[in-house]
Amino acid sequence: MTARLNLDGQEIKPLRICMIGAGGFIGSHLCEKLMETTKHSVLAIDVCGVKIQHLLALGQPWSDRIEFYKINIKSDTRLEGLIKVSDLVINLAAICTPADYNTRPLDTIYSNFVDALPVVQQCRDNGKRLIHFSTCEIYGKTIGSFLPRDHPLKADPAFSVLKEDETACIYGSIHKQRWSYACAKQLIERLIFGEGAENGMKFTIVRPFNWIGPRMDFIPGIDGPSDSIPRVLACFSNSLMKGEPLKLVDGGKSQRTFIYIKDAIEAVQKIIENPARANGHIFNVGNPHNEVTIQELAELMTDLYCKISGTARPEVVTVDVPSKEFYGVGYDDSDKRIPEMTQVRKQLEWEPKTSMYDLMEHTLKYQYSTYAEAVKKAMSKSTYK
Ligand code: NAD
Ligand code: UDP
Repeated sequence: MTARLNLDGQEIKPLRICMIGAGGFIGSHLCEKLMETTKHSVLAIDVCGVKIQHLLALGQPWSDRIEFYKINIKSDTRLEGLIKVSDLVINLAAICTPADYNTRPLDTIYSNFVDALPVVQQCRDNGKRLIHFSTCEIYGKTIGSFLPRDHPLKADPAFSVLKEDETACIYGSIHKQRWSYACAKQLIERLIFGEGAENGMKFTIVRPFNWIGPRMDFIPGIDGPSDSIPRVLACFSNSLMKGEPLKLVDGGKSQRTFIYIKDAIEAVQKIIENPARANGHIFNVGNPHNEVTIQELAELMTDLYCKISGTARPEVVTVDVPSKEFYGVGYDDSDKRIPEMTQVRKQLEWEPKTSMYDLMEHTLKYQYSTYAEAVKKAMSKSTYK
């Protein structure tokens, strides 16, 4: 293999990467990319390795470059040893499903702040570079959300586009426990930023904007608990496979920009391999061109699912559900999430490529081929809801 060069024309040396949360959705795609296209090695830490099993199988060309450690970072003293022998630490571990934020606020805060704290401190004490995964949710609600419904300024990007170094973080009251996640992520970001400013720690913070694709979350009752609520992709996929209307929380008026996981992973690879351009930065990583309301998302997913599965479009596609009924007390929502892309474009020369239609088509093909048969089988049993 000829030497790979970074954006400044320097040879990329193989790194040993300690990846915490490597067995999750993003971690599994990042491990895949690093194994298939680089010479970096990964110490993959997670409480569950099912999503990277295909990479861990013996006889793969990268078998000597990936090791799985079944570790809960809350309570395992092996973590610091693994950080010490690594060149770079990437922390993805988190509780990050909105259904948990208002129903399990303590677990959410512990996972996103308390458990992340020793990782930051150990990186600081051992002089290791840290790439920490935060969230677009850190911005909370937009200023535009406080304007009357038809106010002309709602269309002004100044009232909605989210900029890393300028936009204020606006959350609801403490009673709106939805914001426990955003608040915990904000505090760990501030702490990392402070470590950089006061102690010279080398860091990059990534704020993902609704990354989506194969292996995201679980289908309740198939490969996850039947009483848990995953993120919107898995909720809608599940309803489509069961032939039920898609549930629109509070009418599905909220807006999101979705980015295909494979585009986003290219940005992460650039962050890993261009430390001089990425250190000290906070990056929005999303696709501002792929904005839809959740209602539009439901319509698109239904059209594509019918095309992929060869079924007729149902008469009733969606049903409105109050958030209190769907998520319980204390739920609240981000109204709109458009990432400002100047930082990531300028520093890393990266742009997202995949359209909303294409990313959803790839993803639903995966959902259908992975789960449709299992859902059908489960539905024939009277205990499956
Ligand atoms: P995920 O739930 O699929 O992955 C998180 C992984 O962390 C899981 O495999 C989980 O088992 C592991 N984990 C959690 N606690 C752990 C612990 N104590 N010890 C060891 N492992 C632990 O989520 P994801 O979508 O891959 O998200 C990864 C990161 O990106 C998270 O920090 C999340 O907040 C952030 N993020 C993701 C998105 C997105 O669009 N997917 C959006 C915003 C933020
Ligand atoms: N949502 C919905 N129906 C569902 C699941 C989610 O209408 O079955 C909505 C949810 O209220 C939010 C949006 O879809 O407005 C995206 O939710 P997700 O769980 O993916 O995470 P978020 O983008 O809020 O972090």
